[in-house]
Amino acid sequence: MSYSQMPRKPSQNPKRTLTKQLNALRNTALCLFTVFMILFCAFVFLISSINKVSAKDESSPTTTTGEATLAPSSDTDVSESETQADTTPDTSATTAEAVPVSRATYPEGAKLIALTFDDGPSQYTTQVLDTLKEEGITATFFMIGQCVDGTDASVLQRMVDQGCEIGNHTWSHATLSKVEYDEAINQLKKCDDVLMAKIGQKATVIRPPTGAGAKQKGLFDYARENHQFIVNWNDSSCPSDWAKPANGDAEYTANYVVEHAIANDCVLLHDVHKSTVDSLPAMIKGLKEKGFTFVTVSELLAAQTDLTVDKAISGGYTAEEATAAPGGGVIGVRYVYSNGKIYIEQKLYS
Ligand SMILES: [Zn+2]
Repeated sequence: MSYSQMPRKPSQNPKRTLTKQLNALRNTALCLFTVFMILFCAFVFLISSINKVSAKDESSPTTTTGEATLAPSSDTDVSESETQADTTPDTSATTAEAVPVSRATYPEGAKLIALTFDDGPSQYTTQVLDTLKEEGITATFFMIGQCVDGTDASVLQRMVDQGCEIGNHTWSHATLSKVEYDEAINQLKKCDDVLMAKIGQKATVIRPPTGAGAKQKGLFDYARENHQFIVNWNDSSCPSDWAKPANGDAEYTANYVVEHAIANDCVLLHDVHKSTVDSLPAMIKGLKEKGFTFVTVSELLAAQTDLTVDKAISGGYTAEEATAAPGGGVIGVRYVYSNGKIYIEQKLYS
């Protein structure tokens, strides 16, 4: 049987075939569309769920907010905590305000020490702040008003943000025992004024150039008016960093302070000398190894109530006045811390 003789299937109608193909195509398209819509809806649902979770996290008070507020923080930390505070409910904000920045959380009986930096701020002050931050400690800066005036406010704000104490060291480093009464007042006021203009607060402590003496009536009157403590230093731990051999020798400066430091020490340093600033990492490390806890001068003074009571009573004050003197919140309190002892220079006003 030849090919031509084979029975042939009846030929299909071309029109019906085309309709079938179109139907199949439509069904396929519908299936694909349905699958696509299901996937699209699932995707939309997933995205909206993620957004809800994120929004919930941002509006909830978290322990992280509290820690950021409590910790001595960098500029970044502060801005983060402020940002979070904006979205935090009122109750959380109240709690954060109620807990002050912890600057005096040291164990009872600890060996306290206050590092103090005079005559700045200078080109090296930022390096001091970097070191303090790296070591997680605070210090006190007794600054000259003229230098404050020439310093970017952000450097001064860093001191505050890192928990350091701000001190007044007069406007132009004047020796207050050698100037007229009004000029002494003016020297202290101008320094506080420029601090107020730069960071919105005046000093909490004063260190008069060359130290406080009995003949500086203007100093004591100004301190009383402004509720500021007058703070000298300890001679025994002072490396005299303005002169040789300390000046120019960071290793000598660090070793001198570490070897001579005593409990409740107030160390006189100057952040205008590079060798002093360079000495800080080794100095702080050595002091930590000897068990010292770093505090600001106000914290140091407040921790020495007993010593002040004795000195004050022997100076003729009543027990009530004496007990109230150090950090007791009595208006007009002022005293001089010098060589490990506190001297009350004038009668207390309450
Ligand atoms: Zn000075």
